[in-house]
Amino acid sequence: MTKKIFKSIILVAGTILMASMIIIMGCLYDYFEGVRERGLKDQLGLAMAAVEDEGTRYLENIKSNSYRLTWIADDGKVLYDTAADEAKRENHLERAEVKSALETGEGQSNRYSDTLLEKTMYYAKRMKDGSVLRISTSSATVGLLVLGMLQPILIVVALALIMSGILAGRLSKRIVKPLNELDLDNPLENDAYEEISPLLGRINKQKQEIQAQLKELQKREAEFAQITACMKEGLVLMDKRGRILSINPAADKIFASDREAVGRNFLSIYRDHEMSSCIKKALECGYDEIQQSRFGREYQCHVSRIESDGDVLGMVLLIFDVTEKVQAEQNRREFTANVSHELKTPLQGIIGSAELIENGMVKQEDLPRFMGHIRKEAMRLVALVEDIIRLSRLDEKPDLVKEQVDLLEIAREAAENLKGIANDKHVRIQVKGEPVTLFGVGELLYEIAYNLCDNAIKYNVDGGSVELSVAKDEQTAVLTVTDTGIGIPKEHMDRIFERFYRVDKSHSKESGGTGLGLSIVKGAVACHRGTINMKSTENSGTTIEVTLPL
Ligand code: ADP
Repeated sequence: MTKKIFKSIILVAGTILMASMIIIMGCLYDYFEGVRERGLKDQLGLAMAAVEDEGTRYLENIKSNSYRLTWIADDGKVLYDTAADEAKRENHLERAEVKSALETGEGQSNRYSDTLLEKTMYYAKRMKDGSVLRISTSSATVGLLVLGMLQPILIVVALALIMSGILAGRLSKRIVKPLNELDLDNPLENDAYEEISPLLGRINKQKQEIQAQLKELQKREAEFAQITACMKEGLVLMDKRGRILSINPAADKIFASDREAVGRNFLSIYRDHEMSSCIKKALECGYDEIQQSRFGREYQCHVSRIESDGDVLGMVLLIFDVTEKVQAEQNRREFTANVSHELKTPLQGIIGSAELIENGMVKQEDLPRFMGHIRKEAMRLVALVEDIIRLSRLDEKPDLVKEQVDLLEIAREAAENLKGIANDKHVRIQVKGEPVTLFGVGELLYEIAYNLCDNAIKYNVDGGSVELSVAKDEQTAVLTVTDTGIGIPKEHMDRIFERFYRVDKSHSKESGGTGLGLSIVKGAVACHRGTINMKSTENSGTTIEVTLPL
């Protein structure tokens, strides 16, 4: 801007200077030409009087270089010329000034030299005898005048330009300084120039609009960040080159990246051939998905292309944790295989015995034994099916009706129902503790007490004992089942709550176990948001403690 103002001032100053010089020189030239013309006329008047008196004698005596006098007869013939010799005197009848003088009494004309640098002024007057006396003088034209004065003109122009340059420099800086010092943060508080007030007003309005938009944008960004931060699913936004635009904390955790990941290529953070192909395919086809294992968990990754008006803007990667789903799927598969196997074994026993009886291959005295075997296997099947039904009910997590129940009462009921089996094994059952009322599902609490007590009897030694105790503290009820049985080897402790897992398969089957008792206990405890604790020593006994919130 300073430069522009500077140039403008110089241009204006230069133009004014040139225009003034031209006008002044034109006026001066005009003025001096008028003076010269008047002088010429006076000279001619004097010369006419002298020529009328003395004739050519007067003209012959004239020795002037400034003027030229020509005496022309009324037929145009030159009678005398103070400048040209006789040979060069041609007829002047057609000369404009002569013609005019012959016709009107006086005439005037100007003629220029071939180079236009010299101007000759002619003035002619008719004398009393009809002849014409003409006076002429030559002078430099304006062009020549300017040429002659070129040096001083240039000096003046140069001086004027230097002066206006200095002044223009200072002036432009002075004009621009207040503009440079404008406080655009507070546009309305400036009073530099009144003329820019509307502009400052507009700037202020726009500033307010921008601030409002910025605020809105920041609010939305914060909202977006908050929403994505709370998301359990991983979310990665990428541009079409795969550069990360946004990544939420869940995705950071999955790909072990940090906040610095924004701006970097996603594949430089997570180098994986499958993911690279997935992104490529999504970019080409619009969508693709893969399953990935990270840190022992399973993730389903969906990549979608983002488009706007046919232009690809980028991609969005959504990551879902499907570990539980995959695990459940695998458990289901294993469970189905186990169930088929567990059902098949007693059925084969039943079919085998029935075939032998049918074919008359069983002696009469062995018949009760075979029938007993069939009944035992059938009962095992019934027990198994019942346990499967109980488990699948727990898996489906129906809306179980909770009510106030007394845990001690339930423990007593379970012990009572198992008394027969315990007596058969010569195992003593004892129920201890105080009545504890908790808000729970009576049926499931009974399952817990029954299965734990059943195991404590089943895996006990002849003449051993089982103790069920119920206690409570401020917020929890505790059911503890202690036995003096065979105990559980350490290496099996982690697995006995798995479905169909048994430490000793034959012992379990022998004692009518299905391998599902502890799975049911686990499910029922989980339904009450409780916990299970177990201590066991081989050949000494086991203590299982179930803690349930009141
Ligand atoms: P089962 O029907 O075989 O008893 P459970 O799921 O109830 O199935 O128990 C799983 C396995 O855990 C049993 O087969 C047994 O080996 C072991 N077990 C459970 N309770 C006890 C206990 N109190 N003492 C010793 N071993 C036990």
